[in-house]
Amino acid sequence: MMEVEETNFDELYEVYACMQCGKCTGSCAVSLRSDFNIRELMRIAILGNNEDVKEHEEIWDCTSCGICTVRCPRDLKPSEVIVGLRSILVEEGEVPSTIRDALESIGNNNNPWGRPKSKRADWMKDLDVEVKNLSEGDEAEYLLYIGCTASYDTRIQKVSRAAVHVLTKLGVDFGVLGEEEPCCGSEARMMGESGLFEMLVEDNMNLFKDFGISKIITLSPHAYNTFTTDYKDYKKRLEEEGIEIPNLELDVKHYTQFLAELIEEGRLTSDMMNEFNKTVVYHDPCYLGKRNNIFKPPRKVLSIIPGINLVEFERREDRSLCCEGAGGRMWSEGTGTGERNAVIRVRDANTLNAEIITVACPFCLSTLEDGRSTAGYEESMEVKDIFEILDEVLK
Ligand code: SF4
Ligand code: SF4
Repeated sequence: MMEVEETNFDELYEVYACMQCGKCTGSCAVSLRSDFNIRELMRIAILGNNEDVKEHEEIWDCTSCGICTVRCPRDLKPSEVIVGLRSILVEEGEVPSTIRDALESIGNNNNPWGRPKSKRADWMKDLDVEVKNLSEGDEAEYLLYIGCTASYDTRIQKVSRAAVHVLTKLGVDFGVLGEEEPCCGSEARMMGESGLFEMLVEDNMNLFKDFGISKIITLSPHAYNTFTTDYKDYKKRLEEEGIEIPNLELDVKHYTQFLAELIEEGRLTSDMMNEFNKTVVYHDPCYLGKRNNIFKPPRKVLSIIPGINLVEFERREDRSLCCEGAGGRMWSEGTGTGERNAVIRVRDANTLNAEIITVACPFCLSTLEDGRSTAGYEESMEVKDIFEILDEVLK
């Protein structure tokens, strides 16, 4: 039996219930253009020979989109089995160098981008409004959790600044953590580094307690998913190991949920906005949509913008085409050949005459902008976060 931290795969994931029907592979967009085959990897987990995993370098192709788990007729979690299989490779040091570097950087710098912690607040330099810093004694109702990519990537930093503008204009009492903001650990977990993730859960829960944080608005669906789901699971796991974790009930919302609530409360209305006469298509991020069934809030926010022509992809909501940005794929090219999903997505948007693809996730923004360049639509199409559109239209 294959061992992961002295627990067998069947105890963790009930892999013996897998009937090898292949529905997971049939639903996996990655398997269409690479040797990656989740059904086959389930079989390897059932047979339990560590050496077999090492022969499947395509295991790093998985984007952790989660659709295989949604579609499994046995209610198994094949996407989690991938995380478990990867953790064997991490433990044995059998990881691609780019993944290894990203993991080491999370351990050393608290971000996967190899950037110093002292530069984490650089995105705030050009801000023209004051922002509370909860790590410097300021108090606020909400922490706006920026995340690693939106802190360091110069393109995504614009989304962070747009978020600050919008929340300030809406009178939300929020603050940030600046240089003290930690990595949420989502990508470390998905790349199979559960030990590092455990450390982050412990450190971050203590940090939230120390700074009096219990309500969090996230820019990224990945941070949202990990704070709401993985932190709870790991907290239990750590406590079983005798590690005390602060008993904090975190109230975490992705920003589109938060804004949709402001609309319900009448605190965000069309009257507060200028006309936006553009054709816009919304791309559902896997970690909001497929993994958390959050389909309506982003659409609700976009739909109240006056003048907007909101069109829809045929493959949307739980059938949305994954952009291939998650599950460590920002640090791993993947073994697939042929056109990337992000390029296909941009072409689909073009057939809808969309002038803007709008997203609510830093990884989607990054991959779709690359796809737009590859497809040659730089002049005719923009990729924007919903926060950026709101920043433009709010009076
Ligand atoms: S869909 Fe579920 S039962 Fe079918 S092969 Fe995949 S993991 Fe096994
Ligand atoms: S999580 Fe997505 S990419 Fe990974 S195996 Fe499942 S369907 Fe394929």
